[in-house]
Amino acid sequence: MQLHNSLSRSVEKFEPIEAGKVRYYTCGPTVYGYPHIGNMRTYIFADTLYRALKLSGYDIQHVMNITDVGHLTNDSDFGEDKLELGAKKEGVDAWQIAQKYTDVFFEHSKLLNIRTPDVVCKATDHIPEQIALVKSLEDKGYTYRTSDGIYFDTTKDESYGALGRLDKSGLRAGDRVEMGEKKNKTDFSLWKFSPEGQKRAMEWDSPWGVGFPGWHIECSAMGQHFLGDQFDIHTGGVDHIQLHHCNEIAQSECGTGKRPFVKYWLHGEFLVVDEGSETKMSKSLGNILTVQSLLDEGFDPLAYRFFCLQTHYRKQLKFSYESLKAAASGLERLYQQIAPLTPDADQEISMSDMAKTLIKPIFDDLNTSKVLAALWTHLGDASLSKEDKWSLVKAADLALGLDLTNAKQKISFEVDPKLQALLELRCKLREEKKWQEADVVRDQIHAAGYEIADSPDGAKLVKK
Ligand SMILES: [Zn+2]
Repeated sequence: MQLHNSLSRSVEKFEPIEAGKVRYYTCGPTVYGYPHIGNMRTYIFADTLYRALKLSGYDIQHVMNITDVGHLTNDSDFGEDKLELGAKKEGVDAWQIAQKYTDVFFEHSKLLNIRTPDVVCKATDHIPEQIALVKSLEDKGYTYRTSDGIYFDTTKDESYGALGRLDKSGLRAGDRVEMGEKKNKTDFSLWKFSPEGQKRAMEWDSPWGVGFPGWHIECSAMGQHFLGDQFDIHTGGVDHIQLHHCNEIAQSECGTGKRPFVKYWLHGEFLVVDEGSETKMSKSLGNILTVQSLLDEGFDPLAYRFFCLQTHYRKQLKFSYESLKAAASGLERLYQQIAPLTPDADQEISMSDMAKTLIKPIFDDLNTSKVLAALWTHLGDASLSKEDKWSLVKAADLALGLDLTNAKQKISFEVDPKLQALLELRCKLREEKKWQEADVVRDQIHAAGYEIADSPDGAKLVKK
């Protein structure tokens, strides 16, 4: 298997630290609002990597964190905590915000067929580990104190910034960084004190005073806790390279004295919005679309997964409803080709050589579009038997997660008349502006395993 390693900026042969085992960490969501489909592209990529490792026969331990504290609105360690700010906006406390958006994240993941990692860990459940790591950095002389927190002195770590190829000043020209009392532009907070006279919903005692952890320390502490001082793979979005991941590496390697912290760093590219200019989708730019927005437009969320898989994860992907529509009809055509192949009783059979060849590109740095192209070709090949084709579909499904083996149900599912009646009732209630009653009916539909997609041609039921 070959993977692109951001450390070397090249595609390398993958060799885990321990033969046959992969310890794998994914930077998870900051749960202060709806995840947008650009965020979800990164998790589709992380999920594809998991599938490829699994198909390679590895025994995998996959960990993902939930950032539910300490991620500030300004990446240079100032501004407000995103969770506390979100709580203020919605008139609840930070704990409720975290719970609400963690649930939303996993609902959206499920709709996109993204598997839940083996371990999902919240930053707030691992405060002692984070304090212990800061303490060990302090004992080794890597930290200093300012009036608002404990900071990591990046000049003490000779290899600081290697992942991001940061120059001596540590910054790209034009970057502005708020310095506060920091000694160096690249220094970052490990522990922040609660603002004076302000009671935060989330704060803890520490050897330095009441406060909360900096954003980066959680991934170092939880990665170490669950996967050890050194592990194989770490993923995230390309926007993590310059700051978050450089800081994670510095904390972990200086804290444990072991290098490298992680052997392979993999990063997913941005989803950009098609507006003539290539702007990334981001909450601060206010151009976000969510999985719910896609459902509201009548799309099956898997059409978005299909859309993502057509482009390599290291290439920017331009989003527009036009191109999503094209992907949706592509997926529909694929389902239509596959449906007639569905056997009456599906048997577990070992993967055929032809199927192994079909999915091979997934092991070449996750070349999903090549797997799709090969699948199309084989489906159209009249010399192949129905059984042969079905075995290819099954293998492709393991690699791609597009629910291909359910093609029959996907294109021809007949809606239970009771559910259809509920859908009509909800429409009627909404027309009469009886929102609460309409929501009760919606919940019944959800409980039966369906989502409602509101489209210009009326509401439709989509199987969850
Ligand atoms: Zn992280």
